[in-house]
Amino acid sequence: GRGEGAQAAEVRTTCPYCGVGCGVLARRTAQGVEVRGDPEHPANFGRLCSKGSALGETVGMADRLLAPRVAGREVDWDSALDLVAGKFRAAIAEHGPDAVAFYVSGQLLTEDYYVANKLMKGFIGSANIDTNSRLCMASSVAGHRRAFGTDTVPGLYEDLEQADLVVLVGSNLAWCHPVIYQRLVAAKAARPGLKVVVVDPRRTATCDIADLHLALAPGADAVLFNLLLAHLADAGRLDVEFLKNVNGFEAALAVAREARAAEAGLAAGDLAAFLALWAGTEKVVTVYSQGINQSSSGSDKVNAITNCHLATGRIGRPGMGPFSVTGQPNAMGGREVGGLANMLACHLEIENDGHRAAMQGFWGAPVMAAKPGLKAVDMFRAVEAGQIKALWIIHTNPAVSMPDADRVAQAIAGCAFVVVSDITDRTDTARLAHVLLPATGWGEKDGTVTNSERRISRQRPFRAAPGAARADWWHLAQVAQRMGFAGFDWAGPAAIFAEYAALSGVAGDLGSDFDISDHAAIGVEGYDALQPFLWPANARQRGGRFFGDGRFHTPDGKARMLPVVPRAPQALSAAHPFRLNTGRIRDQWHTMTRTGLSPRLGQHLAEPFLELHPADAGRLGLAAADLAEVTSPQGRAVLRVLVTDRVAEGHPFAPMHWTGETAPTGRVDALVAGITDPVSGQPESKAAAVAIAPFAAV
Ligand code: SF4
Repeated sequence: GRGEGAQAAEVRTTCPYCGVGCGVLARRTAQGVEVRGDPEHPANFGRLCSKGSALGETVGMADRLLAPRVAGREVDWDSALDLVAGKFRAAIAEHGPDAVAFYVSGQLLTEDYYVANKLMKGFIGSANIDTNSRLCMASSVAGHRRAFGTDTVPGLYEDLEQADLVVLVGSNLAWCHPVIYQRLVAAKAARPGLKVVVVDPRRTATCDIADLHLALAPGADAVLFNLLLAHLADAGRLDVEFLKNVNGFEAALAVAREARAAEAGLAAGDLAAFLALWAGTEKVVTVYSQGINQSSSGSDKVNAITNCHLATGRIGRPGMGPFSVTGQPNAMGGREVGGLANMLACHLEIENDGHRAAMQGFWGAPVMAAKPGLKAVDMFRAVEAGQIKALWIIHTNPAVSMPDADRVAQAIAGCAFVVVSDITDRTDTARLAHVLLPATGWGEKDGTVTNSERRISRQRPFRAAPGAARADWWHLAQVAQRMGFAGFDWAGPAAIFAEYAALSGVAGDLGSDFDISDHAAIGVEGYDALQPFLWPANARQRGGRFFGDGRFHTPDGKARMLPVVPRAPQALSAAHPFRLNTGRIRDQWHTMTRTGLSPRLGQHLAEPFLELHPADAGRLGLAAADLAEVTSPQGRAVLRVLVTDRVAEGHPFAPMHWTGETAPTGRVDALVAGITDPVSGQPESKAAAVAIAPFAAV
């Protein structure tokens, strides 16, 4: 039975929300689903945050999509899959492989991602597969590849506990990575010498543990780290030995010396304290997240941070390093498996003939994508322009979450053929689909994910899929077979993982850092019993740290420092004089498809709001709890005013989770322009130019 009767055994799985990747023990009971933190999982050692501990409240069957639908009518799987395969085949035959696209999600398990990527890049022959992770950490990927040669995260969570200084830049860790924050709080309580600096224009909840809060000018992160690099040189804190393994130091320093302290917008004493603390502490970890990544110069900001760690050799050793923490449960897995339009699986490069040939040979693929595909923002522009004739959207809600969301929703509505795979039909994107495919959700899915510290863990099912719902890898493999492609006939996720692990051995032979070939012979039993592990995992190099030995994955083995010329975000105008910062809140996840089901989570912050500085509120004639109309050239939202000096004058903040057509309407991404970082393609979600006025109901 499902849920009725006797209690089922506890299943060891992983939380499906953020990139911390906490281990969860879950069990069906007569009342529903019971969860607790897995005491043995190395990410959380038994801890869970508010979202994780409410998982049992968000797995109800209301609103589940239970059967495939075509044009709103329920059909059987054969009809739906034949239609999808036929439409994709026809679009490719008539317009070429670049006329189709997949837009996927950091919610996909690695096995799902692997199949989607294999189908698009190796068999359809296009690289038009991109992911909502593009909105989340693409700038880190670009920064890593420029600095290290590969997209390698050097750090581990325990580095935060072992450091003497943790600098959090553009990261509200307390709300967005709560269990890492809990670990940091505990470490600080046990060892008061551990100092925490928060660099953020907002005074967030994370500032509760800050020894120093630097409310720097929005977008001035690269200025700050350029000032730091120059200070490190002047203070004699460079690691001359380590710098023998680094190219580009002189050029980076020369540009850094042009930074002016006034541009950081900080009190002189605070800036001096930060520089002295960073320079004088060997064990320093610089954690960064969306405040760095979601910027039109995000990649440069990542490199400005990394420059300081490379110049001091503070990288890849216990308690040291730059550390990007990812947003989604499997953003990292998506990066490893080639789920981005500009990468191949296993960190191989699309521009590299040898890499492409090796992958094509391994797959026995008829064609191979020869150039990078469309990144998220450009993909939906191509949809809008009618260049994409068939689009498959998997577990994401771009009609709400993409920048310029109204325009994206219109583009999807105008696309000739749209497939949406999801667990529900009630997202704004699902409503625009020609074909809806019912997918399995958390608790039914079976596969692996990688968290922010490169640890691969299993998600295991503890209940049967409802109705006709099937796994995403199965949807994709079925369509691939119906398109006439061989190599998509796996018995289950264990076989996909084994193939992926074998491919990673080929990549390892080509010098890739991502190599889990120890698991190439994993059987179903081994896969079921798989314990969380760090990659790499191969005969040559076992999991753990990278770069402490001064060896990098560039052709000459040296790291690269980059000269970073700071660039400001888009200019404000008289008509749109406020700079709107968008982000997450503690108890909701993305567009609330699941967390919105929990009344308990809804109690924290119940409706969409606008944090506004008292001086701005006074000038606009807005008081606490009034409704404000926020407009930009892209769209509008109506938000409840929260007057607070946690934000700076002129720099309001609004959360990005809410949808809805009636006031207050929180579709905040409708306000954000699709301005992207030229290197990473990541949109600038934290600096929208907006106007604010009292909302006049009609
Ligand atoms: Fe889940 Fe992240 Fe909370 Fe851990 S910190 S329980 S992974 S949402």
